[in-house]
Amino acid sequence: MESLVPALDESLVSVFDEVVRRNPGEVEFHQAVREVLESLSPVIAKHPEYADDEIIRRLCEPERQIIFRVPWTDDSGRVQLNRGFRVEFNSALGPYKGGLRFHPSVYLGIVKFLGFEQIFKNSLTGMPIGGGKGGSDFDPKGRSNAEVMRFCQSFMTELYRHIGEYTDVPAGDIGVGGREIGYLFGQYKRITNRYESGTLTGKGLSWGGSQVRTEATGYGLVFFVDEMLTDHGDSFDGKRVVVSGSGNVAIYAIEKVHQLGGKVVACSDSDGYIVDEAGIDLELLKEIKNGHRGRVSDYAQRRSSASYVAGGSIWDVPCEIALPCATQNELDGAGAKALIANGCRIVAEGANMPTTPEATRLLRDAGVSFVPGKAANAGGVATSALEMQQNASRDSWTFEHTEARLAKIMRSIHDRCLETADEYGAPGDYVLGANIAGFIQVADAMLALGHI
Ligand code: NAP
Repeated sequence: MESLVPALDESLVSVFDEVVRRNPGEVEFHQAVREVLESLSPVIAKHPEYADDEIIRRLCEPERQIIFRVPWTDDSGRVQLNRGFRVEFNSALGPYKGGLRFHPSVYLGIVKFLGFEQIFKNSLTGMPIGGGKGGSDFDPKGRSNAEVMRFCQSFMTELYRHIGEYTDVPAGDIGVGGREIGYLFGQYKRITNRYESGTLTGKGLSWGGSQVRTEATGYGLVFFVDEMLTDHGDSFDGKRVVVSGSGNVAIYAIEKVHQLGGKVVACSDSDGYIVDEAGIDLELLKEIKNGHRGRVSDYAQRRSSASYVAGGSIWDVPCEIALPCATQNELDGAGAKALIANGCRIVAEGANMPTTPEATRLLRDAGVSFVPGKAANAGGVATSALEMQQNASRDSWTFEHTEARLAKIMRSIHDRCLETADEYGAPGDYVLGANIAGFIQVADAMLALGHI
């Protein structure tokens, strides 16, 4: 059977080869670029002006890449050293916008893959924001609050000169939640002597944050899937769902699935997964994860209907809908085969690029509806843009109003993906729809702004 995933068009092979040559060893970045390029052949055929102006080659080269030293002192008085990154990828649509990730796996290739994805995701939201991403190989796990604070202060002591409400607006990501954003914003304010709320998003509600920002990525993901189900005259009611991860995105995806009548029966962390046939008890999970930064294994010890599997693959748990919400490349070929064999119908990415190229191909070829993260998890950054709007107008909206705005944005992204897929001859193909719709808006702006 011929695969539904297109091969790379000949005109784009040299662009991809150049990306690999100029960015050696950055395998996640290569993977993200290739996935987008695979969708763009029909656009180049219809709009040769994009090729003439080298829009795609320019898109693959970040506008600016900043790498810096982050020294800090641990609780025993020893000097520790980490590396900080900010990749300001594309500002054709607005100030660079994208999160900061603190995780030992962070290096330039991870930051570039995330920044590249962010360009198209931010474009899809329809908000005036460009794409960027940053982070550090610092591991907050097991560190005291005082250590995390000293690290964040040192990190911001360099980063502050590169960011600003009209320049570059970071937010959270893996390892960067409300606590870290607080320390980062505090240091920014102290150095600049400016209460410039629009410089960072994901702030606390009492100091410039937005309602629904914490919930936004998980809620937005589920709104998107709900729209897919509605499109087919279906709903979440009674659906069996598996969500990987147990961090910010996973927790609020679980919450919204339950609100809409579905049942999440499994979730995970990097040590293993839990299965709870009674449905995940979210209050207990939140208490364990948010209350004392515990593990999902603690959950199984405290709930009789749950069992814990150390290691293993969460994708072995049968479900109708799978929502990978942990990290890149967590759903591989074997995971995809297990999902297909168990009758899974929808896979929507809450995390960024959690599905390997092989798994994506298997799922799509088996007729599973597959939604890439740049569409499905765009609710987080969209709500960050709503936070920026509230900061600019010195206003704060209610939870209901903000959630309704988020739901509307997710509906609009869903519809744009499908309309674009239709227009380019691939009905129902969310990957092609998301990549092309995201690309066209940025490409048009780049054409208008000249060769910069
Ligand atoms: P988070 O709160 O730090 O949670 C990450 C979760 O993933 C944790 O449960 C973590 O478990 C698990 N995890 C990390 N590495 C793993 C691995 N190698 N294998 C299995 N599990 C692993 O981060 P988050 O904000 O939820 O982000 C999750 C994903 O969503 C990331 O891909 C992020 O880029 C994406 N995303 C986030 C947002 C947002 O608004 N936060 C928006 C868009 C996309 P451990 O505790 O064991 O590490």
